[in-house]
Amino acid sequence: MATTSYVIALGSNRWSRFGSPARTIRAALDRIGGVAAVAPVIASAPVGPSRRRFANTAAIIATAETPPELLARLKAIERDFGRRRGRRWAARSIDLDIILWSGGCWADSGLIVPHRDFRARTFVLAPLSRIAANWRDPVSGRTIRQLTARGARARKVDPAPRGH
Ligand code: ATP
Ligand code: CA
Ligand code: CA
Repeated sequence: MATTSYVIALGSNRWSRFGSPARTIRAALDRIGGVAAVAPVIASAPVGPSRRRFANTAAIIATAETPPELLARLKAIERDFGRRRGRRWAARSIDLDIILWSGGCWADSGLIVPHRDFRARTFVLAPLSRIAANWRDPVSGRTIRQLTARGARARKVDPAPRGH
């Protein structure tokens, strides 16, 4: 079967049985498997109501799964890693989002790829630009490199606080 490539964003701001957020991210990558590239783990300020800092990274995964199949497996891993159901953006041991895939766009009732908000998120773009700078966002037509530069310029011109 043909192999498909996915860009996954990983985030954690809570310890799990695997240890710190950074260790939890590494354990999740081992579990996902098919890892073709991993960006360095970065620390970022929290989004939303939780005050805990996040560890974030991004990885390229090779798999024969369709987007819904991969999402179902990622959600099972999140549950197994102790993520509790709760408020959106609450503290979580692991968050696994599908950011891009080699098939272009995907949209069904439970899944939208490219991820709707990734273009505005430095904590996604910064790691992504280390491993997938030339990937092109099929919605905006821009590469990850261009989206990252654009975000940096916007922050320079408009230093107003972000509305987390
Ligand atoms: P955000 O999506 O803004 O980063 P979040 O990751 O905290 O927020 P979740 O509670 O993890 O949000 O996910 C809510 C739902 O989003 C999931 O149950 C999933 O069905 C859906 N979803 C839609 N598109 C995607 C995607 N590209 N990757 C992961 N989940 C997605
Ligand atoms: Ca997320
Ligand atoms: Ca998510």
